[in-house]
Amino acid sequence: MESNLNKVALITGGSRGIGASIVRRLAEDGITVAFTYANSSNSSEELVNEIQNSGGRAYAIQANAENVNTTKEAVGKTIEKFGRINILINNAGIFESKMYDEFTMEEFDRMVAVNVRSVFEGVQAAAPHMSEGDRIITIGSVNANVTGFPGLSLYAMSKAAVAGMTRGLARDLASKGITVNNIQPGPVDTDMNPVDGSNAKLLKEFIALGRYGKATEIADLVAFLSSEQSGYITGASIDINGGFMI
Ligand code: NDP
Repeated sequence: MESNLNKVALITGGSRGIGASIVRRLAEDGITVAFTYANSSNSSEELVNEIQNSGGRAYAIQANAENVNTTKEAVGKTIEKFGRINILINNAGIFESKMYDEFTMEEFDRMVAVNVRSVFEGVQAAAPHMSEGDRIITIGSVNANVTGFPGLSLYAMSKAAVAGMTRGLARDLASKGITVNNIQPGPVDTDMNPVDGSNAKLLKEFIALGRYGKATEIADLVAFLSSEQSGYITGASIDINGGFMI
């Protein structure tokens, strides 16, 4: 595997929350970072400036994952800009909670498009350009395995789907020496799930450590799985949830 200074990562949904922490963490490790966003052009520009001012290389790409082929195009733009792609982090995601009979089919399709199809699209586009030691990591969720209250049918479905997809892709890409893993966070304090939000009190009761995770803690695990040291881990769904039990 080559040194970090020659590595290029694409992080989907890097403008805020967990994705922005991953962008910062990989940049700190000397990795060149491209990232996508749907709407947050100002915070994306600020993040690019922040990394460039610290001596790193960064590039923000507007790419709404609801639309077919946008994630594929983002991979293409990353390669066009930096000449290669070594690490793909599938982080962009949406959360919607409703009773099963309240969801519309449009909402079903949107959940699948952003949380599942765009992951597959990114892998299809990136993997042919990757080689031995390169990495694919998806941000799944504790809800792939555990749902503590009603309303999570579609979100849980989408995160179980990426866990299964990870196992399949790990087999498909093993012969190229590319590892594929899925990180399953519990509650993490972001806009999606603020620590002072309406569900927070209930969620904290499920967590052995009694607190929400920090986006930087998820980014630290991503950094390890992106590194050479993680070479014998593939097809895994790894929990990082402070001991989330129901
Ligand atoms: P946030 O809502 O805080 O941030 C979401 C990020 O994804 C933003 O950068 C956003 O871009 C981007 N995004 C959203 N929709 C799209 C889209 N259609 N196309 C492209 N980018 C999009 O979420 P988190 O940081 O909390 O979540 C990140 C990942 O972690 C998700 O996959 C989520 O399911 C997962 N997760 C989160 C947990 C939590 O408790 N927070 C727990 C377990 C898993 P923009 O700023 O432009 O809107």
